Amino acid sequence: MTTWQKSDWRSRPRVQMPDYRDAAILHAVEDQLAKYPPLVFAGEARNLTAKLGQAARGEAFLLQGGDCAESFSEFSADTIRDTFKVLLQMAVVLTWGAKLPVIKVGRMAGQFAKPRSAPTEMQGGIELPAYRGDIVNGFDFTPEARIPDPARMLQAYTQAAASLNLLRAFSKGGFADIHRVHAWTLGFTDRDEAEKYRDMANRISDTLAFMTAAGVNGDTMNGLSTVDFFTSHEALLLEYEEALCRVDSTSGNWIAGSGHMLWIGDRTRQVDGAHVEFCRGVMNPIGLKCGPSISDDDLKVLIDKLNPKNIPGRLMLIARFGAGTVGDHLPRLIRVVREMGAQVVWTCDPMHGNTIKSASGFKTRPFDSVLREVQEFFAVHAAEGTIPGGVHVEMTGKDVTECTGGVRAVTDEDLSSRYHTACDPRLNASQALELAFLVAEELAA
Ligand code: PEP
Ligand code: MN
Repeated sequence: MTTWQKSDWRSRPRVQMPDYRDAAILHAVEDQLAKYPPLVFAGEARNLTAKLGQAARGEAFLLQGGDCAESFSEFSADTIRDTFKVLLQMAVVLTWGAKLPVIKVGRMAGQFAKPRSAPTEMQGGIELPAYRGDIVNGFDFTPEARIPDPARMLQAYTQAAASLNLLRAFSKGGFADIHRVHAWTLGFTDRDEAEKYRDMANRISDTLAFMTAAGVNGDTMNGLSTVDFFTSHEALLLEYEEALCRVDSTSGNWIAGSGHMLWIGDRTRQVDGAHVEFCRGVMNPIGLKCGPSISDDDLKVLIDKLNPKNIPGRLMLIARFGAGTVGDHLPRLIRVVREMGAQVVWTCDPMHGNTIKSASGFKTRPFDSVLREVQEFFAVHAAEGTIPGGVHVEMTGKDVTECTGGVRAVTDEDLSSRYHTACDPRLNASQALELAFLVAEELAA
């Protein structure tokens, strides 16, 4: 019998959340949001949990990706389309490599709030509160912009609703047909610099041609012309999450209505903290970021709290250690999970442990480090006899220059030309697809 209430987090220590100045305005926004429809529904969350349960058993593979931080200024149909497109391309390549269904989850339609490593930022000798994502405050480096404004939650909700509406249309309306998606990929492998991926792309083409000839196509098999696509974000701004939290009329359970899957960040996973308290009570699949500082004891307590019934697909452990250090941490966490007999989906976030400052002063991530972390993740699982269940990446469908490397090499000097991220550096379309080819090779091995 659960006595959990959606507001229980309020009595727990909270970190990384804004101090709103005007309680009356905050409450008015919360009341408004609480009246708005939820963005996702319990049946969808149950469906995603079941699919992730397959990933926990090695019968499916999870691809989770999108912006570090969605922004109000970059919001457009084209931006959503381009990210969705690359995620689909990656999924086809991974499906081929893994010979398993790929579960597609965007860091989209709600990924607005950001934890920060420092509470303030310095620029030109001026110190201001840190930017915490468009749902909290503004990116501009002015004292006014950095004041947390509750009304931003309403704009975030509207943007998330419109984004999800478009994603649902793209998923079911013909845009996601596997033949189209693969044709876009051939456009990438046709280029000279991507030649090393051409062979795999051609083998996918052959498979699709065979299936068409055999009468398996979009008309006869629904699965080839449409996709299931899910949304996710970090459950950081708990006033927003609570306001969208609802009771599922079928089961009587609580569901976070803000997105299909939520995760707890590496900075907000305190065992008795507000974020764990909120997430433990909702029925959505939950991710837990596991960085180098997570202790074995904390992991044990967190698994017990977040998945007390040991439901496969409920809990994702998202390893994000940094290339060269996966072997120092992943085996000990695997041991904890094994001793508990816990059902988890092991996924690899090869982004957040590999952020460096470039010589030109930009926050960046070298493609080689990203790839190396994924390879180490697979190697540890192979050695331990456990299942690598997915990858979690920060990427965009645009041709940005934020991460260095890749076959269409982005250099340190290039970073300034199209560095558009509101927060962390993302793989661009070509780097993201290339990573999928390389992960597919690991999966096929
Ligand atoms: C993120 O996913 O953008 C993030 C902040 O990750 P982490 O909590 O792992 O640092
Ligand atoms: Mn990030």
